[in-house]
Amino acid sequence: MSRIEISELASGLEESATLALNARVKEMAAAGEEVYNLTAGELSCDTPKYIQDYVASKLGQNKYTPVSGLPELRQAASEYAKKFYGQEWIKPENVVICSSVKPGIWAGLASILNPGDEVILPVPTWVSYKHIIHITGGKPIETSLTNSFDLDIADIESKITNKTKAILLNSPQNPTGAVYSPEAIKQLVKLANDNNITVLSDEIYSRLVFEADFKPVSSYGFERLIILDGFSKSQALTGWRIGYIVAPVEIAKACTKILSHSMGNASVISQYAAIAAFEHNNDPLMSGELRSNLELACSKLDKINKISYVKPTGAFYIFLDIRKMSKDSLAWCEDLLVRKGVALVPGEAFDAPGFARLSISAGSETISKGIDLINEYIGENYA
Ligand code: PMP
Repeated sequence: MSRIEISELASGLEESATLALNARVKEMAAAGEEVYNLTAGELSCDTPKYIQDYVASKLGQNKYTPVSGLPELRQAASEYAKKFYGQEWIKPENVVICSSVKPGIWAGLASILNPGDEVILPVPTWVSYKHIIHITGGKPIETSLTNSFDLDIADIESKITNKTKAILLNSPQNPTGAVYSPEAIKQLVKLANDNNITVLSDEIYSRLVFEADFKPVSSYGFERLIILDGFSKSQALTGWRIGYIVAPVEIAKACTKILSHSMGNASVISQYAAIAAFEHNNDPLMSGELRSNLELACSKLDKINKISYVKPTGAFYIFLDIRKMSKDSLAWCEDLLVRKGVALVPGEAFDAPGFARLSISAGSETISKGIDLINEYIGENYA
């Protein structure tokens, strides 16, 4: 066989560090080694029974659906989004159902970017954003979050050029668990509206919050807004691949055209799962458990003086600052995994070396034992 040249686009992409690490953890577990896996980016519970039952009644449905989704699902999503985001303009024609949030971000960016257009991206950042921006022909422009992981409006302003097309926001944020402050978001509304910048708001964690007075980013009054939302995190449907885009009609139509020539409609079965989720008010799963896991993890972490962290207000991650020990979090996390069997995601995966992401979606025993072992590891190596 002759060698087939890989495209510049593909060779410019890195494998997702979180997926690679998860694969390694599974290999270790399969080999019988004891592993405390605190890397998961998904809830640990099963698909809710009401979704299973509803979907089971639809298994005979096997045909294509409209690319933009089943009309009843677009209707349900539009009603939900109108209320949840307080946006009166949202109607079924503004909704495009897609195979999870990832393709939603991809189609949203592909529908607005021309080659070389700049997209401002707060860092630390979720692994895939900059790659999706590259794939869609854009250029990611990083802006650092503040020490408390809030938006740094002055820095964002300094990054705006005549090529700035969009800013990609995610609050609650992966990997920090931070919710951006209302003050910062309001300042950004003015900045974005004054500079014709489109805000793509990834709301995937918006139902997983620990604060009563949370207001999602998409509810603040951005004039150019594309909402990306889905069911992977709050409904524990990561493997079912179902989400949706909410956008002005011309953008929704552009996204539909793009999807019609690529992924096509989202799985019909998963669309029924989403309908069942909306029939149950899209209520998040495991909220009580996540809250108590958070308190458990924080009470244990507070006793480890080589680690600091900003207490998360949403999602299910704690972003540990390990810079007192190492700036090479990849090496630190690998050593921790090999010596103590505890798996965290190194900050390098989020463009933030010197940090490590701990997921509180595991069971409380795994979290408790895992943090004890981290403490032991630090005592043995960094006393
Ligand atoms: N956005 C963020 C911030 C995420 O953390 C993830 C999953 N880790 C996604 C999007 C992708 O979600 P989906 O599984 O719905 O494609």
